[in-house]
Amino acid sequence: MKDYQNIQFDSERSRFQAIAEMRCPQCRQGKMFKYSNWRIDKFDDMHQNCPVCNLHFEVEPGFWYGAMFVSYAFSILILGILGLIIYWGFGDPSIMGYIIPIPIVSLLAVPFNFRMSRSVFLHLFGFVKYKPELGKLVA
Ligand SMILES: [Zn+2]
Repeated sequence: MKDYQNIQFDSERSRFQAIAEMRCPQCRQGKMFKYSNWRIDKFDDMHQNCPVCNLHFEVEPGFWYGAMFVSYAFSILILGILGLIIYWGFGDPSIMGYIIPIPIVSLLAVPFNFRMSRSVFLHLFGFVKYKPELGKLVA
């Protein structure tokens, strides 16, 4: 009767989930960043290697420079959406109605942008193979 308590849920994450949760592309278990998203002062502190499978996250020297292109794309997306919200939501205000909120929002988005662009870039352009067995050894 107690079998329901022993159900082992399949904890394999999809690639999309692993990107969104900023986890290692090889095991999809280990976290890429040392602190939670809410530690704004430590948003850029990353593990050198995956804490679960020991993958070196910077797969080649200078790898993170590529993440800047992803970050740029995120910035344009965020600012474009904000511009449209201001245009339609506030009835196309004067130019200062755009100049003031857009830099503020783009600065507030830096931690998210930094982390998510590295996660996306590592998963999509790191060419690291997913090895589910590595995650199961520890989890
Ligand atoms: Zn890993």
